[in-house]
Amino acid sequence: DSFDGGAAKGVSESNDDGMQAAASSDADNPIIVGFSMDTFQEERWMKDRDMFKEAALALGAQVRIMVADGDDAKQIEQAETMISEGVDVLVVVPHNAEATAAIVQKAHAAGIKVVSYDRMIKNADVDLYVSFDNVEVGELQAKAITRLVPKGKYVYIGGADTDNNAHMFKKGVFNVLQPLIDKGDITVVYDQWSKDWRPANALTNMREALKSNGNRIDAVIAANDATAGSVVQALAEQGLAGRIPVAGQDADLAGAQRIVEGTQTMTVYKPIKRLAETAAELAVKLAKGETVDADRKVNNGKTEVPSVLLSPIAVDKENIDDTVIADGFHAREDVYKSG
Ligand code: BGC
Repeated sequence: DSFDGGAAKGVSESNDDGMQAAASSDADNPIIVGFSMDTFQEERWMKDRDMFKEAALALGAQVRIMVADGDDAKQIEQAETMISEGVDVLVVVPHNAEATAAIVQKAHAAGIKVVSYDRMIKNADVDLYVSFDNVEVGELQAKAITRLVPKGKYVYIGGADTDNNAHMFKKGVFNVLQPLIDKGDITVVYDQWSKDWRPANALTNMREALKSNGNRIDAVIAANDATAGSVVQALAEQGLAGRIPVAGQDADLAGAQRIVEGTQTMTVYKPIKRLAETAAELAVKLAKGETVDADRKVNNGKTEVPSVLLSPIAVDKENIDDTVIADGFHAREDVYKSG
């Protein structure tokens, strides 16, 4: 199941074993960037793929992209393939924060630096981490919802517990909720991970949250828009959609549509273009042996990883036009289509 048949010059892609070497370019010795992706389950990752490819090509690099479809062993095998093909740097979106440490070891054994993209690879000597401030993502969600619901029963629908980001998002949410929990204003009546970020698992969780609380809940924070979609579906089954505030993340088109419809309160918009461009630029620099400016350090359990953390943006009905739509992340007519 390959994708994107019309590969641009200098780009080769595959998600199976039938791979082609990167197309040659005119430059004598172009940098080849390997991009190891986890999944295309969520809409954003296609943007990551396209924007990263575009940014790297604009820098005169070649790009090799492989996607592991949520399979840990496959992601490691694909990285090994790219290492043996001779990529100059590896950029990795880890499916499993711990398992992908093996990729860093293998790359380093071959003298190849590794950039952790969006998600941190844990317990490994990662050379650079480029992401958003993921604790802030959770804080933005909880600030928006507690402003509307300062007291009451909260449900937290988390992401995949194998993804370090899911832990950061949750940390941010509880940074804001904890003082209100301590005061007795807020009770968290349900709190579960959604295995592998699957919407089906989030749906099961949300149905369970409603059932075990006799539908008496006041607010829901979901780790992303895909899981928020399941939350809204479960609420709709009980006639509660649009009556209980729901937070999500990613500014998926469906999430943006729910915001204008009124069934989802807010999302957290992360400008993917900035992430992709920053990562591509810094990866090429690393490949050339240049020093890279990283103003932050993030501990991944093994080392303080030099990091660049971009700012996420809270988006609701009021500012969706000035953010998501103004940026061209989605077209206005698509967002307001159903409304
Ligand atoms: C990303 C989110 C995404 C989720 C599921 C997280 O690591 O930061 O943007 O929705 O993974 O793919």
